[in-house]
Amino acid sequence: MRLTLLGTGDARQVPVYGCQCQGCQAAYADPRLRRRPCSALVELGDQRWLIDSGLPDLTERFPPRSFSGILQTHYHADHAQGLLHLRWGQGLVIQVHGPADPEGLSDLYKHPGILDFSQPFAAFETRSLGELQVTALPLLHSKPTLGYLLEGGGRRVAYLTDTVGLPEDTSAYLQKQPLDVLVLDCSLPPQPQAPRNHNDLNLALTIIEELKPERGVLTHVGHTLDAWLIEHGDELPGHVLVARDGMEI
Ligand SMILES: [Zn+2]
Ligand SMILES: [Zn+2]
Ligand SMILES: [Zn+2]
Repeated sequence: MRLTLLGTGDARQVPVYGCQCQGCQAAYADPRLRRRPCSALVELGDQRWLIDSGLPDLTERFPPRSFSGILQTHYHADHAQGLLHLRWGQGLVIQVHGPADPEGLSDLYKHPGILDFSQPFAAFETRSLGELQVTALPLLHSKPTLGYLLEGGGRRVAYLTDTVGLPEDTSAYLQKQPLDVLVLDCSLPPQPQAPRNHNDLNLALTIIEELKPERGVLTHVGHTLDAWLIEHGDELPGHVLVARDGMEI
């Protein structure tokens, strides 16, 4: 199984338009440090699924029929805005499997174009997509949101963003078997107060300790965390990595 992190930024991306902090300045100076909307591509056998669709240039990156469909975590703009372009294609249908969300994003349900939203995931439902098994895991966020457990090729990988902490039943489900890799929301540096809606580093490390993956990968990284990491990056535990756009797992 190959998981490619296409984007690893939070809703504001890095650099933040107009910001002069150390994290943003570094990203202006070195394009490899930029962070685009949080999204990924999982590949196994003949299956090739996008996880989220927030990249604005999906139609250029992915020619028609070059991917199997989309696993949507939720319908916040930074995760779904690419659908607004993709829908006006023709001659194909793209399955979008995500949470049951009565609102979705903008007018996507009213004018879905070539997008098919008709098969939302139920909580803890597992679907077999060729050799790839995908299980939908409820997360804690301001919109109905699912993380995905990806199994196949002898690997077990969890992709969990956006979330603040984890619901107990999701945590219990993931602890049933060891994880090879946990890709996890970590938007903020350590906060003095408990964070709302997204993990800060303290909470992300607590979750990693609880789920004990072989490797933890922090994604959905905001510019304040990037600035913090410039000074404190070497304080992370050895099995915890900070994601980069283009990283392959
Ligand atoms: Zn987000
Ligand atoms: Zn900044
Ligand atoms: Zn969100």
